[in-house]
Amino acid sequence: MANLDLYNPSEEHKALREMVRTFAERDVWAQAREYDRLEKFNRPLFKKAGDLGLLGITVGEEWGGAGMDATAAVIVHEELSAADPGFTLAYLAHSMLFVNNFFQNASEAQNKRVLPKVISGQWVAGMGMSEPAVGTDALAMRTTAVRDGDHWVINGNKMWITNGCVDDSELGDCFLIYARTGEARGKAISSFLVEKGAPGFRLGQRIKDKLGMRASATAELVFEDCRVPADALIGAEGESTLHMMRNLEIERLTLAAMSLGLARKCIEIMNDYASQRQAFGTSIRNFGQIQRYIADSYAEWMAGRAYVYATAAAMDPAAHGNRMDSDGVKLYCTTMGKNVADRAIQVLGGYGYVGEYHVERLWRDAKLLEIGGGTLEAHQKNIAADLRRVPVLR
Ligand SMILES: Cc1cc2nc3c(=O)[nH]c(=O)nc-3n(C[C@H](O)[C@H](O)[C@H](O)COP(=O)(O)OP(=O)(O)OC[C@H]3O[C@@H](n4cnc5c(N)ncnc54)[C@H](O)[C@@H]3O)c2cc1C
Repeated sequence: MANLDLYNPSEEHKALREMVRTFAERDVWAQAREYDRLEKFNRPLFKKAGDLGLLGITVGEEWGGAGMDATAAVIVHEELSAADPGFTLAYLAHSMLFVNNFFQNASEAQNKRVLPKVISGQWVAGMGMSEPAVGTDALAMRTTAVRDGDHWVINGNKMWITNGCVDDSELGDCFLIYARTGEARGKAISSFLVEKGAPGFRLGQRIKDKLGMRASATAELVFEDCRVPADALIGAEGESTLHMMRNLEIERLTLAAMSLGLARKCIEIMNDYASQRQAFGTSIRNFGQIQRYIADSYAEWMAGRAYVYATAAAMDPAAHGNRMDSDGVKLYCTTMGKNVADRAIQVLGGYGYVGEYHVERLWRDAKLLEIGGGTLEAHQKNIAADLRRVPVLR
């Protein structure tokens, strides 16, 4: 086996991994199939993650967070996703898309008021960038915010918002919402804290019947002359394109980490099954084609792991700096995770196709990671653009 210190660079990282793995194996795995089938977000489990100090993993200790780095965020996502990627997506939307982003860019007064609620798990939070007509082309967003005296008035719809609701009819508690405050297209984008109960803010459709990630609730959010106080603006007016780009880096890194976790679980399951299952008078692991599924999966998982942890080690959650590799890890690992899950189903034959062995759930969950937080094509576009400026690779 490779040197595991690469993945646990300090004693704190190692202890964090052990703690999260225990939680994942004991509590998260046990509920995963049921919540997937029910298409339900497990709020009590989420609260438990708060009690364990996982919801503010990148928030400074002086603010009640764990004060840890991007590597720690990777460890948490990898371990949780080995048990339940659907629950982990809800965790990611809360702790990376909202908490990390908000903490980096909000004022002291905003942080003081909101962080204790989101770090404890009292509030479930999300982030709204995508819209019904705008996804990859995020800077073409149509939601607007206009200043009116002591308020901002927001109009528009946000689509596909993870944690947009916590059940079929109840909104999540608070959101970081991007809206246009300047010219129709371009970079005049600002972000706002919008809380449940704001006038003119309501739940649109709850998006059901997803292929995977069914343990996370996805919803459309509707803003109809939604009024939020002037101090709901996060950072300076018109400057949130930078917040968005910066936060996308840690989002993509942790989505890649989720693929690592589910791939590891699939490898463990197919490896064990290949030893147990007999055919033609021998264990199926003696067949070359099965060996290829297992060996290719292991090698690809390890390659992805090395890339993710190398990228995490160089990433500062508060800074913008490595778009190319945050795109790169997600481009490589998400397809790797989907392919590994697919091979696991193949190794298990008919047993892989049904729920009992979990690989069908992990395969369904794996697909979303090639779309959410940036599609494969978006990563290819970005990497090719960034590489244009780097003719010589060192
Ligand atoms: C379960 C789930 C949860 C999500 N959670 C959130 C969330 O919490 N918050 C949030 O803001 N969003 C969320 N999203 C939205 C997600 O980020 C978008 O779906 C994603 O960015 C793609 O946007 P789109 O679906 O509009 O596809 P489009 O952008 O319309 O893309 C359609 C196709 O065209 C391709 N394409 C687009 N532009 C180009 C180009 N320039 N070159 C080549 N190909 C291109 C795409 O790659 C894709 O294949 C979620 C989505 C899902 C499904």
